[in-house]
Amino acid sequence: MKKEYDVLIVGSGAAGLYAALQFPEEVSVLVISKRELTLSNSSLAQGGVAAVLDKDNDNFKLHIADTLIAGKYKNNLEAIEVLVSEGPKDVLKLKEMGVAFDLDERGRLQMTLEAGHSRHRIVHHKDSTGRAIVDVLIEQVKTHKNVDIYDSTMLYKLDRNEKGFYAGLLLPDGTSRIIAAHYCILASGGIGRVYQYTTNSAIATGDGITLAFMLGARIKHLSRIQFHPTAFAAENDRERFLISEAVRGEGAVLLNCDGERFAFKYDERGELAPRDVVSNAIMLESQAKGNEKFYLDITHKDPEFVRKRFPMIYEKCLEENIDITKQWIPVFPCQHYLMGGIDVDLYARTTVDRLYAAGECSHTGVHGANRLASNSLLEALVFSRRAANDITAKLRTEDNTPFGTFTEHEDLSGHTLPHGFRTEIRKLMQDCYFVIPKPELIPDSLKRAKEILTDLTGGEYTIDQSFVEARSLATVACIVLEEVKKKYDAQ
Ligand SMILES: Cc1cc2nc3c(=O)[nH]c(=O)nc-3n(C[C@H](O)[C@H](O)[C@H](O)COP(=O)(O)OP(=O)(O)OC[C@H]3O[C@@H](n4cnc5c(N)ncnc54)[C@H](O)[C@@H]3O)c2cc1C
Repeated sequence: MKKEYDVLIVGSGAAGLYAALQFPEEVSVLVISKRELTLSNSSLAQGGVAAVLDKDNDNFKLHIADTLIAGKYKNNLEAIEVLVSEGPKDVLKLKEMGVAFDLDERGRLQMTLEAGHSRHRIVHHKDSTGRAIVDVLIEQVKTHKNVDIYDSTMLYKLDRNEKGFYAGLLLPDGTSRIIAAHYCILASGGIGRVYQYTTNSAIATGDGITLAFMLGARIKHLSRIQFHPTAFAAENDRERFLISEAVRGEGAVLLNCDGERFAFKYDERGELAPRDVVSNAIMLESQAKGNEKFYLDITHKDPEFVRKRFPMIYEKCLEENIDITKQWIPVFPCQHYLMGGIDVDLYARTTVDRLYAAGECSHTGVHGANRLASNSLLEALVFSRRAANDITAKLRTEDNTPFGTFTEHEDLSGHTLPHGFRTEIRKLMQDCYFVIPKPELIPDSLKRAKEILTDLTGGEYTIDQSFVEARSLATVACIVLEEVKKKYDAQ
């Protein structure tokens, strides 16, 4: 690892890796990932990437309209136009790089339908699209000599001066290393781990959002959290395996505890209504029935088709003793995606000079109040490319002098972090701000989250992964609950 880089990229998901690939040879780039390179929400993406590639049956206007409808018209139209019109080229670029998207019998990209989309426009690699993309991007990045990539290297601190950033990195052996970079792209993913039950990967603790917030960047709509209606209802696992929308797209129906279809009672689009609508329907039905047991049924489909189309879901469910070709799949909503984040413009610039954000940690405004399925990988690609291009253009016109000497290590030792902060935050969030929020619990939950954050920031604890993540979860909970409280106070 060098002492100075032109650009630091925090994250090896779709956003971070795709950004790294855009920089020309003369730009030195450091990509870090706090755990294994492949441990990310990107790797978990099943359904696919939405893009208008079949111009005979689809067009930009339809994709824009679907995105606006799902987002309840709270989206930023300009950002959607960029997403929808530029995205197809990025998807084709991935294909060119070697991502094995499924093809139809004529060798064209196979498009599937997902909830909220009026056309078949989701390109996919079986039911493990994200991993197929991440694997190819990692291979590509490793061939770029200007890019250094390190796993198990966690950003714990970000300071800045007029030249750029001093980034505090926690190395695998627990020691610190400070590096300098003229620009920083935060591509650090979402916040799922602030909930007890989430589809998100273990890395999704909101670290990037927290560090941006600490630097004074504007954070927007962090309370816009999406709950997925159909996560596998495992008894104890915190990370809940997703039963992709595409399963409903291919004809699976939702059943209540009595084996009755009920989704049409709540919305005329039934099982294919947007995620928030289906999640709400499940919660209301569960209140009506006094029972939290729900199922997805795809047993009426040809078993061979189901196994081929959803090999990963089939195998994962089998591990839980459910053969989806013969049995109903137990499902229940859980946290899935963050629509808000570090506020950015159309070039992924935050409100802090030289700081960019892309992917799930950012708020471009494309998703509005609710994300349309498969628009997030597309957003990660489009806006990370734009960030990288914007930075490259700036580097070419600027005369960035070296940072000079600075402290390259610091002592991270301190008091031992007491157990329980993270568990408590997760419970607070799960209890007061799930699919149907409980406004009466918000003020006390916020008060407690603030107490925890104060303890963490003032406690002089050892800086390690547990501390950094606890601080992130507490910060995220405070921002979310503060926003929600303001909303209810104003009503
Ligand atoms: C189960 C599941 C299924 C999904 N399916 C789809 C789908 O079909 N289509 C779709 O469009 N979207 C889907 N999504 C959403 C989509 O996958 C994500 O929104 C998107 O991939 C986020 O990419 P990202 O690069 O922003 O973040 P991530 O892919 O989550 O990557 C974040 C990176 O940041 C690193 N990081 C975090 N904090 C630090 C730190 N402090 N220091 C160093 N590194 C750090 C992590 O190690 C990781 O490498 C799905 C999400 C889930 C969870």
